[in-house]
Amino acid sequence: MQKIANYINGEMVAPVSQSYIDNYNPAQGVVYSLIPDSDERDVAMAYEAAHLAFPAWSQKPAQEKFKILMKIADLISENLEELARAECIDNGKPIKLARTVDIPRAASNFSFYAQAVTQFWSESHAMEHHYLNYTLRQPLGVVACISPWNLPLYLFTWKIAPALAAGNCVIAKPSEVTPMTAYLLSKICIQAGLPKGVLNIVHGNGPKTGMSMVTHPHIHAISFTGGTKTGADIARVAAPMFKKLSLELGGKNPNIIFADCDFDEMLRTTLRSSFSNQGQICLCGSRIFVEKPIYEKFKQAFVSKVSKMQVGNPLHEDTKLGAIVSEQHFKKILSYIDLAQAEGGTVLCGGKAVTMEGEFKNGWYMSPAVIEGLPFDCRTNQEEIFGPIVTITPFETEEEVLMMANSVSYGLSSTVWTQDITRAHRIASYIQAGIVWINCWLVRDLRTPFGGIKSSGVGREGGFEALRFFTEPKNVCLKI
Ligand code: NDP
Repeated sequence: MQKIANYINGEMVAPVSQSYIDNYNPAQGVVYSLIPDSDERDVAMAYEAAHLAFPAWSQKPAQEKFKILMKIADLISENLEELARAECIDNGKPIKLARTVDIPRAASNFSFYAQAVTQFWSESHAMEHHYLNYTLRQPLGVVACISPWNLPLYLFTWKIAPALAAGNCVIAKPSEVTPMTAYLLSKICIQAGLPKGVLNIVHGNGPKTGMSMVTHPHIHAISFTGGTKTGADIARVAAPMFKKLSLELGGKNPNIIFADCDFDEMLRTTLRSSFSNQGQICLCGSRIFVEKPIYEKFKQAFVSKVSKMQVGNPLHEDTKLGAIVSEQHFKKILSYIDLAQAEGGTVLCGGKAVTMEGEFKNGWYMSPAVIEGLPFDCRTNQEEIFGPIVTITPFETEEEVLMMANSVSYGLSSTVWTQDITRAHRIASYIQAGIVWINCWLVRDLRTPFGGIKSSGVGREGGFEALRFFTEPKNVCLKI
């Protein structure tokens, strides 16, 4: 069976403990590779390597970092097919999604930040010709990047690329549930000539490997994407150590549909925004609010289309819904169907475990569910499910829908469908979310700030925001 290795000091190495964790193929429900069960000793080795690499890497001219990071981007693109296949097998996502979204965006993350760092600037403030202030933006040193399983390589590189571009050395941990493309990235970094120790990838579980990174006394910043509870655990430990923290956490995003919307386009996009990646995208709109005059029309059209969505082998070209990432997550999602019914909801379609045939019979599949009849403040409508379940709720007024949309503890993203542009701007200004899409969904410009408010996180990624996070501003005041 394939054994994944850690990437420390430019080399592929086994964990100090020599222990491994099972890695599952969720489409078949079988163990297909083993990942290092790393502990604080592996993290300490990675730190030593990163610490030694830091002086040279942090002083490299932007143009030289540009060349290496661009090489990594090019190699990701050249290996797109292998990486997409690996992501699909590791995560259960449809191959088409991995090929058109996950892997191309991982390459873009590197090419974007390779270029961004050549354009990065800082401020200067002249004081009536007697003094001049200028602000240096210096890299932090050794930083940690911890990422989740839903968009594995895409979110992993979204952190690593700006951290490296800003001149830091990095210790990174992908989710233990989906380690494969991070492992393949290690090989790409070696091929691209990334100097040893600049990036170190340490595999293992969150409480042991991840926490060893969080508690390490000399790791100065932690960029984390994952669940809100894990984010709180990390903050609790890191805050008294005065570490810089970027936390991208959970969501329970509203999708607000007004009667005057372009119905066909809204319906097409709402199918995607509800069920892409089996609903396991932090930006999926899991609470759908529909203005009363079109509620019945929407319900009929939506349920009819969702009922026809079939789960299938993620490696098949035509598959739109693949497997759920793990047995544990599968059980959690299904438990919300029971909860929704106990709370008075009606399951209009789906919500059942699906047993496939042959080699896929032990995989974790479920039919996409649409639920109605739930109060906006019940648990099903307030807690993040992170699976192929959406609720639909009618509304009468803007005030009412804003109240319901903003009633959750989360505030990551939101979607608004209307032809009335004034109303769209009004909703955008009142909605409690870090991201608002109007008449579209998941359109990403890497220059824009990305992140959430309330329990969805602290800080922003994207564009210069990430370069600012990964640098320390130092003001210098000079008498002229
Ligand atoms: P988790 O919080 O369980 O894990 C995220 C990462 O943190 C994993 O690498 C995990 O390792 C690690 N980890 C777990 N516990 C600790 C710990 N105590 N200390 C340090 N690291 C730890 O999230 P999931 O992987 O389940 O991802 C799903 C969540 O991510 C959802 O809530 C989703 O909304 C959110 N998310 C947010 C996004 C955003 O941009 N705001 C984007 C994508 C997802 P291990 O896998 O070994 O447990």
